[in-house]
Amino acid sequence: NRKAVSVLGLGDMGTALADALLAAGHRVTVWNRTAAKADPLVAKGATRADTAADAIVASPLVVVCLLGYDSVSEVLGPHTDVLAGRTLVNLTNGTPGQAREMAAWAAEHGADYLDGGIMAVPPMIGKPGAFVLYSGPSGAFEAWQPVLDAFGESHYLGEDPGLAPLHDIALLNSMYGMFGGVLHAFALVRSAGGSAAEFAPMARRYVDTMGAYAEVMAARIDAGDYADDVTSNLAMQAAAYANFLDTAEEAGVSTELITPIHSLLQRRVADGHGHEDTASLVELLGK
Ligand code: NDP
Repeated sequence: NRKAVSVLGLGDMGTALADALLAAGHRVTVWNRTAAKADPLVAKGATRADTAADAIVASPLVVVCLLGYDSVSEVLGPHTDVLAGRTLVNLTNGTPGQAREMAAWAAEHGADYLDGGIMAVPPMIGKPGAFVLYSGPSGAFEAWQPVLDAFGESHYLGEDPGLAPLHDIALLNSMYGMFGGVLHAFALVRSAGGSAAEFAPMARRYVDTMGAYAEVMAARIDAGDYADDVTSNLAMQAAAYANFLDTAEEAGVSTELITPIHSLLQRRVADGHGHEDTASLVELLGK
C-alpha cells in the first residue's frame, strides 16, 4: 500500500528513516537544510523538496527528525499555513514537556501530532531489533502504523504526547547506567594491564544475566514490598560497595561514575532499610 511520506531532516537517522520508507515502496519526499545530503536518497528514487514548506505540502504524513526541538520549531514554525489536515510524526529527541507543547502547537494549526522515540541506531532501522515508541492521538497512530512499521516495531504508549519521550529517555537512562558501569570496569581492567576486548565477553555475559533482575525489581516496586525473600540485602551491599570505591582508588581509576549509588545505599541503610532489597533504592529517587 504505497503512501506519500515526507521526511524533514537527513542526518544519520533521518537518512535511515527515508531509506526504510523507500525500501518499503513508499513515495518519499525529502528535505534537509544542507541540500546535498539528499543526493543519495534522490538517486534511490526519493523526490527532493527545495523548501521545508514544499516537503510538508507533498505528503499527508510528515516525519521530522532533526537535532532537537529548537531546530524543529525553526524549520516548521514559519509554515503553519500548510499544516492543516496532515499528521506530523516528530522523531526528534526531546523532553515530555517539549512534546506536549509541540502537540498543542500542531493542534492549533489543524495537524495531528505523534511524538516518537527511536530505540535503535541508524544501521538498525528497518531491521529486526529496532523499535520505535509513539504517543499522541490513537486514531492517527492506527491510521499510519502500517507505514511507520517500516522503521521497526511500533509501540504505542497512549494519548499523552509526552509518554514516548518519557519512555525513550527512561530507556536511554537504563542504557547509560549500563555503559557507565562497563566503562568503569574497562578502566579497572586496563589499570592492571588487561585488554578491554578480553574482558568484554565476561562483562556482556554478566550484564545480560543481571539485566533479567529488572523484572524482579519491578514486581517489588509495584508491590511496594522490599523486605520479602531478600537474597542480597542493602546492608551487605553497602559494605561491599565501599570496596568498589577503595579498589578504584588503589587502581588510580576515577570514582565519578560509581559514587552516586554508594550514597544512595548508605542513606537507605542509615534510614533503617538495610534488610531490604536493591529495588527499595527507588524510594529515594521520587515517584
Ligand atoms: P545528525 O547530527 O546526524 O543530524 C542532525 C540533523 O538536524 C541534520 O539533518 C541537520 O541538518 C539538522 N539540523 C540541526 N539543526 C538544524 C536547524 N537549526 N535547522 C534545520 N536543520 C537542522 O543527527 P541524527 O540524525 O543522528 O539524529 C537526529 C535525531 O534523532 C536526534 O534528535 C537524535 O537524538 C535522534 N536519534 C538518533 C539516534 C542515533 O543513534 N543517531 C538514535 C535515536 C534517536 P544539516 O544536515 O543541515 O546540518
